[in-house]
Amino acid sequence: MNHDVDVVVVGAGFAGLTVARELGWMGAQVVVLEGRDRIGGRTWTDTRMGEPLEMGGGWIHWMQGHVWSEVTRYKLPVAETPWPDTAHWLVGGTRRSGSAAELLERMNDGMRRSIEDCMEVFKRPYEPTAGNGWRDLDRLSVTDRLAELDLDDEAYALCDAMWSQNFNAPAATGALTQALRWGAVSNGDWQLLLDICSHWRFRDGTVSLANAIRADVSGDVELGVHVARIDERPDGVVVTTADGREIAARACVVTVPIGVLGSIEFTSGLPQPARQVAADGQSSQGFKLWVRARGADQPFIAMAPSDEPLALIQWEHAFGDGGEFTAFSFGTDARKFPVTDLETVNQYVGRLVPGIEVTDFASHDWVGDPYARQTWAMLRPNQLEGVQALATMPGRVTFAGADYARGWCSFIDGAIESAMRAARTLRERVL
Ligand SMILES: Cc1cc2nc3c(=O)[nH]c(=O)nc-3n(C[C@H](O)[C@H](O)[C@H](O)COP(=O)(O)OP(=O)(O)OC[C@H]3O[C@@H](n4cnc5c(N)ncnc54)[C@H](O)[C@@H]3O)c2cc1C
Repeated sequence: MNHDVDVVVVGAGFAGLTVARELGWMGAQVVVLEGRDRIGGRTWTDTRMGEPLEMGGGWIHWMQGHVWSEVTRYKLPVAETPWPDTAHWLVGGTRRSGSAAELLERMNDGMRRSIEDCMEVFKRPYEPTAGNGWRDLDRLSVTDRLAELDLDDEAYALCDAMWSQNFNAPAATGALTQALRWGAVSNGDWQLLLDICSHWRFRDGTVSLANAIRADVSGDVELGVHVARIDERPDGVVVTTADGREIAARACVVTVPIGVLGSIEFTSGLPQPARQVAADGQSSQGFKLWVRARGADQPFIAMAPSDEPLALIQWEHAFGDGGEFTAFSFGTDARKFPVTDLETVNQYVGRLVPGIEVTDFASHDWVGDPYARQTWAMLRPNQLEGVQALATMPGRVTFAGADYARGWCSFIDGAIESAMRAARTLRERVL
């Protein structure tokens, strides 16, 4: 086979950009094919409601070594999301209020016990399928675990809210092993996990890192190119785009989310356990919502269990001098509770926070997005083996991406971690 390039990379999110940069630095000729008209994938610093907002992923942390090394490499400034003072939470449809510290205290015992065994089950978090401790647990959901803990109504509602928020899906659909993996990379400390998930961010947006990595990619990054077929042969890979162009390469790196795996034809097939994952999709089917509002004068957080439209809403920063503020929110079911108009958004928010009026909102429908069909990847029960089968596929087609990462799976960090590994694997294997 005559190769047009050494490696075709499918997708220009953080995994695709990073693997292209690394392979280029190793001397390989690379082309990146991206279906969207922008880089960044499920991160997107867009200007909405008059300011730059992260429509997708945003928070990072120094406990996430792969992304933090990029912060260091490119000297990127970081900024903080403030920790709230006051809190509201729903129990059985009734609102309770207190301080944010009280909110944490009321869920502390349940959250701690829900991942108590994480360090034992995932003793080596970056080798998630090492050992057998996880196998029996993988059939359980997070709700199964919460049911074992004999929590009172309030603690149960709060733990359900926190896990549904973490999964961006009702806790009943999320795998216990996924929760335990997040616990294990946070040293078993759920409050540290909370800090990692929602405190530090790029001052100039995730786009600042995406652009920095893009500038270090020596090959072409082609936008608006949809990859339709990947044909692995003994002497190379032929990648076919939706408009019929064929590109022959020594190898291919696929970084697309689990939710759209089924939209690409893999002529040599995917490993058996992975086919089921591709058919079923993972659990996160929720949304991120930004609101502009008035009526609160200090940072707050509010949480609700998974049958409510919003799992969480939190004050982010004051906006202008007129008493308005910007807050972020997450809901667990984008189809059941769509965010389409201001009146509906006001109803959702009003259930959780008293006395505030939403004046504007912004959201992106990731579940309806043909290049995502999900938000951040959170596995359902019985999917860990299938996803790791993709992550460790032999041959010339290699998977990288947050969805297939070993450590901080589903985070920006995981996208970068998996890309570093994929680049080195291909170099050893075919370059
Ligand atoms: C609402 C939301 C909030 C989040 N919050 C956080 C957070 O605070 N912190 C954090 O660390 N992570 C967060 N995440 C997760 C994080 O953003 C992602 O896990 C990470 O960015 C994924 O990177 P990736 O490169 O693996 O995949 P992607 O970014 O999805 O990149 C894959 C690329 O492949 C492209 N593609 C798909 N199909 C094709 C095709 N057939 N042909 C060509 N191109 C194709 C896509 O357009 C996409 O650009 C969040 C995600 C969402 C959606």
